[in-house]
Parts: sequence; C-alpha cells; structure tokens
Amino acid sequence: METSYRFSFRLFPISLPERCLKPSSPAPNFRKLIYRATCSSYNIPKFIPAPKTYSFSSTSIARAGWFLGLGEQKKLSLPTIVKAGDPVLHEPAREVDPKEIGSEKIQKIIDDMVLAMRKAPGVGLAAPQIGIPLRIIVLEDTKEYISYAPKEEIKAQDRRPFDLLVIINPKLKSKSNKTALFFEGCLSVDGFRAVVERYLDVEVTGLDRDGSPIKVDASGWQARILQHECDHLDGTLYVDKMVPRTFRAAENLTLPLAEGCPKLGAR
Ligand SMILES: [Zn+2]
Repeated sequence: METSYRFSFRLFPISLPERCLKPSSPAPNFRKLIYRATCSSYNIPKFIPAPKTYSFSSTSIARAGWFLGLGEQKKLSLPTIVKAGDPVLHEPAREVDPKEIGSEKIQKIIDDMVLAMRKAPGVGLAAPQIGIPLRIIVLEDTKEYISYAPKEEIKAQDRRPFDLLVIINPKLKSKSNKTALFFEGCLSVDGFRAVVERYLDVEVTGLDRDGSPIKVDASGWQARILQHECDHLDGTLYVDKMVPRTFRAAENLTLPLAEGCPKLGAR
C-alpha cells in the first residue's frame, strides 16, 4: 500500500521504480525460461508458479531472473513491483511452510520486500507484489511519512506510526463492525486512488520472520493497511472492493466526490 504525502487523502506520487522500469523490449516466453532453468539444474524454488502460455514483459523477466537466481539478473538489488494485470496479483498465494521460514531464500524474500517497500516508498507490501506467490506481508508507517499529511487527515484516519512488521501466513479477523471509508492507493495500481470501506479494528495472527507466533491488534490506518495487504494474499486488489465511482487519477484526488458517492470517514 502506498504512503500519504501532501494532499488530503493522497497516498503517494508516481514512484521512481515505476518510471525507471517500464518494459522496453519484447521478452522470451517465461515457459522457455523455466524449462532452461530446469534443464540446467538451477535451484528452483518449490513455489515457482506453473508455467503459463502467454509471454511476459521484460519487467516480468527481470523479476523472473531475480526469482530464479539467474546469473546476470542477480545484479539487480531490488525486485520490480508487479503491476495490476499480472496473474500473480489476482490469484491466491500459498502458505509458507514454517520449516522454510529460517531458510536463506525466505529471509531474502523478506529483506527484498522491506527494501522494495521503503524504496517505493510505501507503508505496506505483499509478496505477490514482487512476483512471489507466498503469504508474506510487510508494513511500516513512520513519523516522517505521516508528517507530510495534513493534521486533520491524520486525525480522521486515526493514523499513528508503527515499527516494521513482518507477518507470515497472516490470518485477519475484524474485531468490531465499525468501518470507515477513505481513499487508498496501491504500488501495483500506481497513479490511481479510490475509496474503500475497511474495518476499523482488526486482529491479525501469524508468524514473524523468526517463525515465532505473533498477534497484532490494530485500529485505524494500521488496520486498513493490514486489510489491504492481506487482501493481496487472496488475489484481491483494492479496485476489487472500491466504491466504483470514486476511482480517479492521483492528480484528481482533491476534486470533490461525484454526487451519490458515500461520504469519507467513519460510519
Ligand atoms: Zn497494494
């Protein structure tokens, strides 16, 4: 999920990675890549997605290189953030085997997710957003990010800073029926925003990056981030849940809502 900056309910300008990593040339078929990798006995992770029959963009190939640990692509220090339309964002992710958590592979995925989230910058990221179909989320909100938002907005959203959270196999449940409507954005749907109704109080249980059980009681904006990121793990983007006529380009964020749209704020 994207962070907030200058404008009321604005959740972030177009990120630098998006500007720099646009696909520029046709890429070979992903099926061939997988096949080659298999034949040359690369260490392929168990969670590799089933080969599909369509071609991937060069962005996806770059990601696949990172994903597969292919020689030249190892130089990439940061995975690309996957954009809406890639099936990995629209299909459920699989649980991480607790026995795998301590592995170098899973620890690197987590490190990469944190780096990618901070670089974007965003306040949350789910593993499918870097092309990994695993149930892992990271989230963090800082004083600095929050300082860019107007005070009245921070108050309305009940937004407070919290330290980095890494949650593996999260299970989310609402703790009350209270909800709120606010604009939100997503690093995978960059440049757009829409109003989404979310629960105000949630509880999330799961495992931390050491494999120890954790429980997070969250309210307000943190609860929204958790719901947004957990949705990613079920293949759901915010656009699947938005109030449709509120969908807009980020530069139109401060324009009034269309007639008939529900008011922003708690219900
Ligand atoms: Zn998102």
